[in-house]
Amino acid sequence: MPKLVWRVKLVAELRPGVMTETEVARIERDEQAGLAELGLQLAEAKQLTAALQAQIVPAQVAVVGERRHWCEACGRGLASKGSVEDTHEKHSQAR
Ligand SMILES: [Zn+2]
Repeated sequence: MPKLVWRVKLVAELRPGVMTETEVARIERDEQAGLAELGLQLAEAKQLTAALQAQIVPAQVAVVGERRHWCEACGRGLASKGSVEDTHEKHSQAR
């Protein structure tokens, strides 16, 4: 039986005008789905969310790491390049 296929792509624009496309999910249905099977199943919705998170979260961490070489509040160099652990609150209390 032929299938209906939806491919879900995430288009990221992390720098203005620079797009990267990633396929995050593929949803297949038999052409003759019952009324009860219309739309996304809960498990698929969860998978889709997880797949999106798996793309978005590391990208956010990477961008934060690139930008935070020094503390914005006091100008002090951060403990390690790209560290998201070293916050102003933490290193100001340590002294
Ligand atoms: Zn600081």
